[in-house]
Amino acid sequence: MKLKNVIIASCTVLIFLSCATNPFTGKQTMALVSNAQLFPTAFAQYNQVLSESNVETGTARAEMITRVGQRIAVAAERWLNANGHQGYLADYEWEYKLIDEPTVNAWCMPGGKIVFYTGILPVAQNETGIAAIMGHEVAHALANHGQQRMSAAYIQQGVALAGNIAINNEEDRNIFNQYYGIGSQVGVMLPFSRSHETEADKIGLYLMAIAGYNPTEAAELWKRMKANSGGGAPPEILSTHPSNDSRIANLQTLAPQAVAEAKKFGIQSFKPITSYSY
Ligand SMILES: [Zn+2]
Repeated sequence: MKLKNVIIASCTVLIFLSCATNPFTGKQTMALVSNAQLFPTAFAQYNQVLSESNVETGTARAEMITRVGQRIAVAAERWLNANGHQGYLADYEWEYKLIDEPTVNAWCMPGGKIVFYTGILPVAQNETGIAAIMGHEVAHALANHGQQRMSAAYIQQGVALAGNIAINNEEDRNIFNQYYGIGSQVGVMLPFSRSHETEADKIGLYLMAIAGYNPTEAAELWKRMKANSGGGAPPEILSTHPSNDSRIANLQTLAPQAVAEAKKFGIQSFKPITSYSY
């Protein structure tokens, strides 16, 4: 057999073995980098970011981030259990932290490790805005979007042929940070693809609605985000989350579906929209 054929055969086997159906998207997703490999790296990176940052605790706004995060996590668990995916979050170790920094950004790493920066609070404007961002970021993690992008990058580099990807050196950690949109010191942060954004928007809407937050507010949030990009430097979150008018229109179209989904979980009304004053 020619070398090329061997390589193709090896790839096929590896991809076949590594595919799993994602419960949130119903799609076969490629995961050459498994949760068992990713989560310890994610947790270590998360702790490193926290150790180098001004983590705010005990304030009303820090408690709000925790409260919204917990509600989104419970919503994800309820949705998974109701759809026959018990145990999907077994390895998740949810954590919700607020970092006092003017960066307009937020992210969720694999395994449920969430960071909000205080700079995003004025754009979020209210707790429901926070829920829209949180739902969306958690959705990327639940749908393994970063994982898929890392796997694709490894395949491009031919590393997958080795069959044992361990994220244990600086170069791999930099790739990890690029694909998860964290660590501006790395320089390049790669944007999510449009299809991943659309998926995360839909899942995020469902999660926020099941958590008791009005999903029609998500479109309003992204309108504010867009408005915020005029004038000075655009928000950092937009560098990893390209946004446009069709996306906002899509969120408006999907919102009634999210309301209907939330009704299945007994949610008949949503938390009132009240701007916070911090
Ligand atoms: Zn996104």
